[in-house]
Amino acid sequence: MQEIQLQSYHHYIIRAKWIIPILSQPILDGAIEIKNKKIIRVGKFKEIFKESTFAKLIDFEETVILPALVNAHTHLELSALRFRLSPSSEGFISWVKNVIKLKQELSLVEIREFARLALDNLWRDGVGIIGDVGNTAITLDLLCKTPFYGYFFQEVLSFRGGYNLKELQIKAPSSNFKITYSAHAPYSVSPLLLQAIKSYNKKRKKLFCIHCAESTEEVEFLKKGEGPLLELLKERGQWNEDFVSPKVSPIKYLNSLNLLDENTLLIHVIHIDEEDLEILKKTRPKICVCLKSNLFIGVGFPKIKEFISAGLDVCIGTDSLASNDYLSVWEEMKTIYTYYPDISPGEILKMATFTGAKVFGFEKMGALLPGYYPNMLVVEIKDYLNEKPEDILRSLINAEKEIRFRFYV
Ligand SMILES: [Zn+2]
Repeated sequence: MQEIQLQSYHHYIIRAKWIIPILSQPILDGAIEIKNKKIIRVGKFKEIFKESTFAKLIDFEETVILPALVNAHTHLELSALRFRLSPSSEGFISWVKNVIKLKQELSLVEIREFARLALDNLWRDGVGIIGDVGNTAITLDLLCKTPFYGYFFQEVLSFRGGYNLKELQIKAPSSNFKITYSAHAPYSVSPLLLQAIKSYNKKRKKLFCIHCAESTEEVEFLKKGEGPLLELLKERGQWNEDFVSPKVSPIKYLNSLNLLDENTLLIHVIHIDEEDLEILKKTRPKICVCLKSNLFIGVGFPKIKEFISAGLDVCIGTDSLASNDYLSVWEEMKTIYTYYPDISPGEILKMATFTGAKVFGFEKMGALLPGYYPNMLVVEIKDYLNEKPEDILRSLINAEKEIRFRFYV
């Protein structure tokens, strides 16, 4: 893959067989005019070319151009666990225990090197925006030296409470990255601390991110105050005797703590009932689905179609290499298309681009429109026959392809 970091003096007309603007229909024999690091026009090549002077023409011939992808949820610091856990028939608790055990065995050098490798692969795979969650800040300075945009969430795990939410210090500041605290899950962070993290983020206009409703064990813990998660907390010296089981679902619990609103990002959201869905419709948090991770651990399927029908913003993450063999957003899209055939390829591509960028507050990214940043991929698709827009969108998700070129600012 070749790449160009755009400069303000670059003035290009970029032509390709297909332009995928994301928020409108694919354009056959299309072009994009770029000037001053922004897209100024998108349309049919003939029209763009006729009206433009002084721009340099780059013709990418039989290729497809689309915005760079968004991986809205991963844990780069777990990258060294790739292939060290097998897709589990033993379920969520056994997976969690294995991750805790194997993580302790990793050296700092291993964590850093595998995270760097994972970042290289994400870039080659066409990702431009990342949501990374870390318990340490080991990956943060790596991220800040890259051309990625995104969020780094310093994750808090403490059910006994007693965590000092001091102002986060950034070692290598980068204007491309937003940095804040996130909460691990409703069963691993005390209610008081959950509220404190939400309030920290509210004050700083940041996104509050939390894994939620991922497993039946999480539901059991909150609804009945018992089960293997209670045992795990006791084992790890994290159980708090003062905790009173809320006797409700994870969504109702978070709602009772006033944690759900448009600036909350819920990861997974699998085990929900009709009442939970109604709460989501009213409070409108963002949702990130990580389908391949869910399949790997065997926790179930999120109601993606219902979320989209309710008008909720749904983006795509890979989760970490402890529950996925690849951090590939392409693979996630293909898996969603396989398991949810009634979600259109265009909708899936929007989740992986525009919606992800919107969730993280990168308003002028994730689509190819005038005024947007031309962070985009030039993709060659092997063997597609028809010239219908729906075929090209389906081929982008399903067919064999190669990223030939990328532009970024
Ligand atoms: Zn995760």
